[in-house]
Amino acid sequence: SAKAAGKNQVCSFDSKMQQQVDHRHFMRSELRTVLDGGGISLAFQPKVCAHTGAMRGCEALARWQRPDGSMVSPAEFIPIAEQSGTILALGELVISQALETCAAWTEQQRDLFPVAINISPQQLRSVHFVDRLMALLAEFGGSPHWIELEFTENAIVENIKHAIETIDQLRALGFKIAIDDFGTGYSSLGYLRFFGIDTLKIDKSFVSEVATDRNCAAIANSIISLGKGLDLTIVAEGVETAQQQQYLAQAGCDLVQGYLVGRPMAKVDIEQWLERRLLSSDS
Ligand code: C2E
Ligand code: MG
Ligand code: MG
Ligand code: MG
Repeated sequence: SAKAAGKNQVCSFDSKMQQQVDHRHFMRSELRTVLDGGGISLAFQPKVCAHTGAMRGCEALARWQRPDGSMVSPAEFIPIAEQSGTILALGELVISQALETCAAWTEQQRDLFPVAINISPQQLRSVHFVDRLMALLAEFGGSPHWIELEFTENAIVENIKHAIETIDQLRALGFKIAIDDFGTGYSSLGYLRFFGIDTLKIDKSFVSEVATDRNCAAIANSIISLGKGLDLTIVAEGVETAQQQQYLAQAGCDLVQGYLVGRPMAKVDIEQWLERRLLSSDS
């Protein structure tokens, strides 16, 4: 049986690795159950103008809560979902939940648009991706203008030709396109010449040291000037301090996202957060 074959395969591993393998197996089947049972929800993190603080949308981030209340980090379950193929189901769930939320947001809550959704390499690879996305949009009566799709560099360079075709198609439909975790991929920059994209997101690993480490500052500055040259919006993710925010704003970064402005929040929490902001800016 497959199980026996699996056992044979791992019997030469040391026990630490065996434990990891068992843990991943466990997580995989747990994740499958969760997908059916509703343990996945979304958190929304605001994005604001680096210069004025004006709202510029938010990012939807998947959250997995176990029945005992504990949270599993996406850094842990997304890679497992990727490897086990569950990412397609998870991805659909995330898109549906994001669209359902968007559809519920009123005119007053339009500052929360566009909502950025993370799209995994396997989703981009799927030939049904665009059709499924449009079908879900139709189901919720939504518009592509509500949505920004975030792809990582690695997902794009994995199959440039397919990525260009798909991204061109998505942009023609009215979706915004962002490259996430920019600067951390294996890619050369050359692929950027083939694309119309909208946004580059500077990875938080550079942002966290931008005000204290010359190398990180140099990398962030290069990304900003590259983005300017290509006419793109530059977003810094993971901005935690006023110092980082000031540095980035002065360097020409357009938008910031991070704990300094707001943590990822459940739907009702970001609604209240937005309302409080609107009230305090009125007075
Ligand atoms: P990402 O798309 O780059 O998202 C940004 C991550 O940085 C989020 O982690 C967010 O909570 C975190 N973050 C935001 N501001 C700060 C800050 O000021 N300081 C620090 N230290 N962290 C900050 P999260 O939610 O744990 O997600 C991790 C990654 O998992 C995401 O990185 C994304 O790659 C992936 N992910 C999350 N949700 C989804 C999803 O629905 N689909 C897919 N394919 N991937 C997802
Ligand atoms: Mg992202
Ligand atoms: Mg990112
Ligand atoms: Mg990141």
